[in-house]
Amino acid sequence: METEKTYDLIIIGTGAGGGTLLHALAPTGKKILVLERGGYLPQEKGNWESQTVFIDNKYKAHETWYDKNGKTFNPEIHYFVGGNTKLYGAALLRFLSEDFEEIRHHDGISPAWPITYHELEPYYAQAERLYHVHGERGIDPAEARASGPFPYPPLRHELRIQELYDDLRQLGYSPFPLPMGVMLDEDHPENSPCIRCGTCDGFPCLIHAKADTEVACVRPALDNPNVTLLTQTSVKRLETNPSGREITRVVAERNGETVEYSGSIVILSCGAINSAAVLLRSASDSHVNGLANSSDMVGRHYMCHNNSAFVAISQKPNPTVFQKTLALNDFYLGSNDWGFPLGHIQTMGKADAKKFGAASPFPAPHIALDQLAKHSLDFWVTSEDLPRAENRVVVGRDGVIGLHYTENNLEAHDRLNSKLKQLLRKVDRKHSLTSLTICLRKKIPLRGTTHQCGTIRFGHDPKSSVLDVNCKAHDLDNLYVVDGSFFPSSAAMNPALTIMANALRVADHLKERLQ
Ligand SMILES: Cc1cc2nc3c(=O)[nH]c(=O)nc-3n(C[C@H](O)[C@H](O)[C@H](O)COP(=O)(O)OP(=O)(O)OC[C@H]3O[C@@H](n4cnc5c(N)ncnc54)[C@H](O)[C@@H]3O)c2cc1C
Ligand code: SF4
Repeated sequence: METEKTYDLIIIGTGAGGGTLLHALAPTGKKILVLERGGYLPQEKGNWESQTVFIDNKYKAHETWYDKNGKTFNPEIHYFVGGNTKLYGAALLRFLSEDFEEIRHHDGISPAWPITYHELEPYYAQAERLYHVHGERGIDPAEARASGPFPYPPLRHELRIQELYDDLRQLGYSPFPLPMGVMLDEDHPENSPCIRCGTCDGFPCLIHAKADTEVACVRPALDNPNVTLLTQTSVKRLETNPSGREITRVVAERNGETVEYSGSIVILSCGAINSAAVLLRSASDSHVNGLANSSDMVGRHYMCHNNSAFVAISQKPNPTVFQKTLALNDFYLGSNDWGFPLGHIQTMGKADAKKFGAASPFPAPHIALDQLAKHSLDFWVTSEDLPRAENRVVVGRDGVIGLHYTENNLEAHDRLNSKLKQLLRKVDRKHSLTSLTICLRKKIPLRGTTHQCGTIRFGHDPKSSVLDVNCKAHDLDNLYVVDGSFFPSSAAMNPALTIMANALRVADHLKERLQ
């Protein structure tokens, strides 16, 4: 067993939450230990190959979890320095101000957050700078007030997407440039780290030009001599003092051995599912239902969005290389024929034959898939799923994760997909008398845990939440959680920027506490 070591702070997990918090706290000079179960994602040719990423699944964790019926599945989760941001699409959007308030949906209530958009706004601005977000304010009528412009100009649309953008505007819709975290300088391509390639969304960036958490936060933080990162170190349990109020030991597995560390403050950030699992596995005499779980809320209210990949195949070819530049919030809060929120639409990374093949329920000839891909416009359609106590992470006696989830708010999602279809038909009719576009849609199943959130919610009331407003556990004096688990509701927007902004907010609180 390795000798026990003591630190001012121990951060567990280096994804959007933990890695961003590390970046903010590294300059404090405090002795920081970072524990990460994965290693560095290898920079290799396969980073940009659909075969390697989507068919061989080289970067996906080899894990098997259970659904509510005891059926096994392999989650789409990635364990690396930088967490899931290594593979993310880098669409970095703020939530709307309404998302922080209680909203009535068709299937129930999306609860209010204990903080307002206004309180998070300065941290959104900071996160946008840190993650090189390109965008333009004042185009999306739904957007919340911001204190300043985006730090970088919006990415330009390629011809086919510009045409769609113009058509939608002429039809009275309000498409806007999708805010993106890539290090692209379109005016000075000779100096631009990003080359605007077609293998970004869902792929790692071979040349480290995507603003993922490893590149934007963890690597720069490691320049500080007070920061130590241990990779391949998986935290198994957190142990407390006899009163149960303070974590005294972080127990992990490293190279097959059990190792223990202690820190004055422990920050858990393993992702919404794994953080809940760590707390549940840390049950003890003073925390019989799991650590920080006197409310019985740990693991509950799991959310992951109603997400669909929506593909419109038209007669017109779509030679776009980098397609993730357009978004639409016209139906976010409702539509003229339905009084409930529907959600958000954005373009996705351009599909190719291999991606279509991986998603197809039956084998199809490459040549046919290739033709489809050359004519497809590809969208990611997101509607809010609501927090339900019975949708939860559980841990079996063997320590294996069970994810019990029943979909909800599906009518909103069906309607949003229909709206997109209608809107594309209208665009079609502008150009010809007949509608030629065929629309295909695939709802992302349970294994698609990419937008996981909500299992360790923050709130004012210790009976209905696990964390207080500063994301400190109500039940403990020195435990914080900063991954996506703190969300009380999922909104209908990609989660990463909100996780990053919140981590910066918690970092400010910790800086004060550490003084
Ligand atoms: C393919 C894909 C595309 C996406 N696209 C977008 C997008 O365009 N925009 C967007 O906003 N979001 C996107 N997301 C989601 C986004 O990546 C996540 O919301 C975000 O990374 C979650 O941050 P987190 O800190 O909660 O967890 P993670 O980023 O998952 O970080 C958790 C970290 O904890 C580590 N860890 C886990 N368990 C342990 C343990 N026991 N001990 C030690 N370390 C542990 C993990 O290895 C990981 O490094 C995408 C995700 C994927 C997979
Ligand atoms: S588009 Fe830019 S950031 Fe994305 S993978 Fe290609 S080079 Fe990297």
